[in-house]
Amino acid sequence: MNKSFRLVFIQLFLVLFISLPFSQAQDIFPVKIKLISGEIYEILDGRGARGGAYVGSSGVLLIDSKMDKKTVDETIGGIKTLTNKPIRYLINTHSDADHVDGNQYFPETVTFIAHENCRKEFFHSKRDGTPSDWNKPDLIPILPAITFLDRMDIYLGSKKIELWYFGVGHTTGMLSSISGKKRSHLLGTKYSWKDLS
Ligand SMILES: [Zn+2]
Repeated sequence: MNKSFRLVFIQLFLVLFISLPFSQAQDIFPVKIKLISGEIYEILDGRGARGGAYVGSSGVLLIDSKMDKKTVDETIGGIKTLTNKPIRYLINTHSDADHVDGNQYFPETVTFIAHENCRKEFFHSKRDGTPSDWNKPDLIPILPAITFLDRMDIYLGSKKIELWYFGVGHTTGMLSSISGKKRSHLLGTKYSWKDLS
């Protein structure tokens, strides 16, 4: 970790996206959108892993898509209460179903972004050896259309969102950090406070 990179982390305000494996049996509550800091929100509840939202001056960037139509509809409705700007981008932090299955319920105008390995993992066979559902041609539009390797910057108007990849997490394509401003970082499951010191 180089010096400038470390400096960023010394100042950061952390939100850990603790994406514990999603249990089918757990109670499902309506989606809640909770302000974290500035333009950054957590997307809680619904069906699927915890997500995030970054509301920029020219649009919204979402982090992970959760799992079903009801949850996505509630997410979209919640975002509309924050801004009338469109949802432009959705970052899939990794390829587990509780982070990506909801892709199919977003409008076609949303561009999906992921690490290159994450996109490849969409096509891997399931644990029981059956082929991935993502090989179906009609699902192509909801696969990540833009991929990156080490890092990527996304501009929402004057706001810059930085995506960082630090290596293999519990999947090979796990995105580890999404930073929206100097003190606000959204982290994937790979890191904890200790890892950053
Ligand atoms: Zn996962």
